[in-house]
Amino acid sequence: MWFQFFNYKSKYSSPCERCGVLVSDDQPECPHCKGLSSKNARILKGIRKNEMSNKNKGLSLLMKVLFCLCGLGVVYLFTL
Ligand SMILES: [Zn+2]
Repeated sequence: MWFQFFNYKSKYSSPCERCGVLVSDDQPECPHCKGLSSKNARILKGIRKNEMSNKNKGLSLLMKVLFCLCGLGVVYLFTL
């Protein structure tokens, strides 16, 4: 997951105009929507967007849980 995050931030790739998937600059054409009609590419783009927002939701939940655990840990340390 973290690897994917860093890969997403990589400056050596740019989003495909048709499907929105990041493609590294040394790829001559997008391997994800190659051979798809532009309609299918748009559907793929929509699916990718949904996946991305679900991932972000999961990540923010994880951060909240970690934050709560840290808070509990601090409270525990101070009540010793
Ligand atoms: Zn593409």
